[in-house]
Amino acid sequence: MAIIGPTCAGRQKYMPELPEVQTTIDGLNRKIKGLTITGVWTDWPKYLSAKGGPASGWKNFKETVVGRKILKIWRIGKNIIFNLSGEKIMLIHQKMTGHLLVGEWSARHGRWVPKQKGALVEKVNSYIHIMFSLSEGKMMAFSDMRKFGKILAINKENFENLEDIKNIGPDPLVPNFKFGDFKKLIAGRRGPTKKILMDQNIISGIGNIYADEILFIAKVHPLSRTEKLNDKKLKQIFNAVKKILKKAVKLRGTSTYDYRDTAGKPGHYGKARLVYQRKDEKCPNRCGGIIRKVKIGQRSAHFCPICQKV
Ligand SMILES: [Zn+2]
Repeated sequence: MAIIGPTCAGRQKYMPELPEVQTTIDGLNRKIKGLTITGVWTDWPKYLSAKGGPASGWKNFKETVVGRKILKIWRIGKNIIFNLSGEKIMLIHQKMTGHLLVGEWSARHGRWVPKQKGALVEKVNSYIHIMFSLSEGKMMAFSDMRKFGKILAINKENFENLEDIKNIGPDPLVPNFKFGDFKKLIAGRRGPTKKILMDQNIISGIGNIYADEILFIAKVHPLSRTEKLNDKKLKQIFNAVKKILKKAVKLRGTSTYDYRDTAGKPGHYGKARLVYQRKDEKCPNRCGGIIRKVKIGQRSAHFCPICQKV
């Protein structure tokens, strides 16, 4: 299993990134698209009052989603969007420890107990704070140890004005996102390149893990000043963004901490990672370098001091 860090105490600030969210929506589309929401339960209605969303109580939320058919599930950045019948939209942001699971559970002694054996019984999948009942006897659970997730439901006509949505930068994995677009967004920005790559209002979906991996492939130091990058370096970063994100989607993401797919299983990128959390290990390029870790604000970056120059 690709667990490469603490799952509880002493964790770094981590949030699922584009590959994890893509894996989740692929699973949801396969398993619950076309089903109807028949009920919803929570023990943490505060999910609805997260910053940036419209204020609405649990009763309103329930009335908006129950009885609606799930038409499709897609994403904007790390936001998971459910198109529901009746021109409604439900948005879920998994934040740091949240992940959506599909299965069947029964309520026993105030707990949700999975009816099936396998990954769903694991501890990381047991922090269920929202449960949707669906048609055909299926259920969708939101397991979220830290309870930082966010959920809201609104009319489709108000969707584009949501704070969460309107400022998000373009998605680097869509086929029509070309080098020219990337250059326009990045060139001339001031600040360390890793920080700029992770800014969701510039490009969406890249976080701590994949930014390290991308800059290693691109041979760019994470502290390189973005405003000083020439066209060649920008092109190397652009190519690396596509390459690493595609590879990570293929490997179903990284389960360094709490992220699991809709079956409750971990992703496999953790084993394939190049530099992230490999401090003091040898550079995978075999250049003779030893992976180092530096601080960038509240974050850190892993890099090879020989392959990646400032
Ligand atoms: Zn190296």
